[in-house]
Amino acid sequence: MSDAGEVSYADIEAAAERIAGVVHRTPVMTSRRLDQHAGAQIFLKCENLQRAGAFKIRGAYNTLAQLTEQQRRAGVVAFSSGNHAQAVALAASALGIPATIVMPYDSPASKLAATKEYGAEVVNYDRYTEDRTAIATALAEERGLTLVPPFDHVGVIAGQGTVAKELIEDVGGLDAVLTPLGGGGLLAGTALSVRALAPDAKLYGVEPEAGDDGAQSFRAGRIVSIPAPKTIADGAQTTSLGTHTFPIIRSLVDDVLTASDAELASAMRLLAGTLKLVVEPTGALGLAAALRLAQEDLAGARIGVVLSGGNVDLDRYAALLTSG
Ligand SMILES: *Cc1c(COP(=O)(O)O)cnc(C)c1O
Repeated sequence: MSDAGEVSYADIEAAAERIAGVVHRTPVMTSRRLDQHAGAQIFLKCENLQRAGAFKIRGAYNTLAQLTEQQRRAGVVAFSSGNHAQAVALAASALGIPATIVMPYDSPASKLAATKEYGAEVVNYDRYTEDRTAIATALAEERGLTLVPPFDHVGVIAGQGTVAKELIEDVGGLDAVLTPLGGGGLLAGTALSVRALAPDAKLYGVEPEAGDDGAQSFRAGRIVSIPAPKTIADGAQTTSLGTHTFPIIRSLVDDVLTASDAELASAMRLLAGTLKLVVEPTGALGLAAALRLAQEDLAGARIGVVLSGGNVDLDRYAALLTSG
């Protein structure tokens, strides 16, 4: 087995064919003002402009499209308070597969509504007293549903790898690539694409400072778990990397960095001001760290940055932009 183990770049090429025509090939945006501010050439892969507002539709659709006829008829189940829920609901509706999504009662009303609009059945639970994994697993068993995990799954990793494939195809060689890091589906997929298409590029995952389990795991050489971190980056409040994502990250990524909530708010402001891009806090992790690296080793470099999502409640967005 290669160091990438059970997922390879060929799986990402196959995923790219499966998702074509359903998932947007998002633009790569640049800005002279941003480059001047950063002191480097920044290429922004705009998954905030993706369908359902984040890259997660890529992994969800790639996974659902590979289910058997029988699995499709029975349906799928996912648990998430965030972008994975909407991605599975949308992918399922595109493929005519029934979807059940397990979401906390106190999820933002906009997210509950969006998930229902895609035609999914929403099962609510109390995030303080109930265990969502247990609820989803029970539903899967009772109803014969297939559980679609948010990051720790080979089909999900391969789907997420199409982001960096498109980025490098569109802009050519890069000195460095940075992506946000939660459970590691995006970073693991990105790593496989970067090592295939731009092998010399430095590759970094970026997680919230308050939740640096990825950095700890990367250094320790084993998966380290932490309590749910308190951060504005709600898409990266994961407590550990996965058993599929960790080995890929460990062997192919150069380092795992962190960004503070203040740096995220500042990067969000910069994106709104220079490119009129609305990016959620988690989506700004890569840029926040890129701005720091551009002041150090990567001055003047060509840096690819994945803006992973743009789903943020507008009142909260306005408050974050004026918080700094
Ligand atoms: C899920 C998510 C992430 C983290 O992705 P992982 O594959 O869990 O590492 C980052 N940004 C956004 C916007 C997300 O929705």
